Amino acid sequence: MSYVPATLRRLVTQRAGDKCEYCQFPQTASLFAFEMEHIIAEKHDGITESENLALSCPYCNRFKGSDIGSIDPETGQLTPFFNPRLQQWSDHFRLEGGTIVPLTPEGRVTAKILQFNLLERILERQQLSNSD
Ligand SMILES: [Zn+2]
Repeated sequence: MSYVPATLRRLVTQRAGDKCEYCQFPQTASLFAFEMEHIIAEKHDGITESENLALSCPYCNRFKGSDIGSIDPETGQLTPFFNPRLQQWSDHFRLEGGTIVPLTPEGRVTAKILQFNLLERILERQQLSNSD
């Protein structure tokens, strides 16, 4: 994993509003520092620049790894993940209670592989919305 300079990390973090760009969890409510995620992994020639970086919580970053897509469980088609630089979160997902409901093929593969709806993650989101 390439070194990401502090100025670039700051830009990515601010642009993301200090939230995970995949699951929208706020860094301020997390015990862990969020990470610089390569949208297209370096293994696939993704480069370390603003347009290929996203702020990611440790869960999303760990589950995504160097993957860039998966097989859509509904259509069986190879489908790229949701790309936070090119797409709007609300076009692809909806939050219902603590559950993230995917709305599109990109949403479905992203929610599945990044394991958005593990019980512990749903509970964290519910706790967060109760503390507002
Ligand atoms: Zn996340």
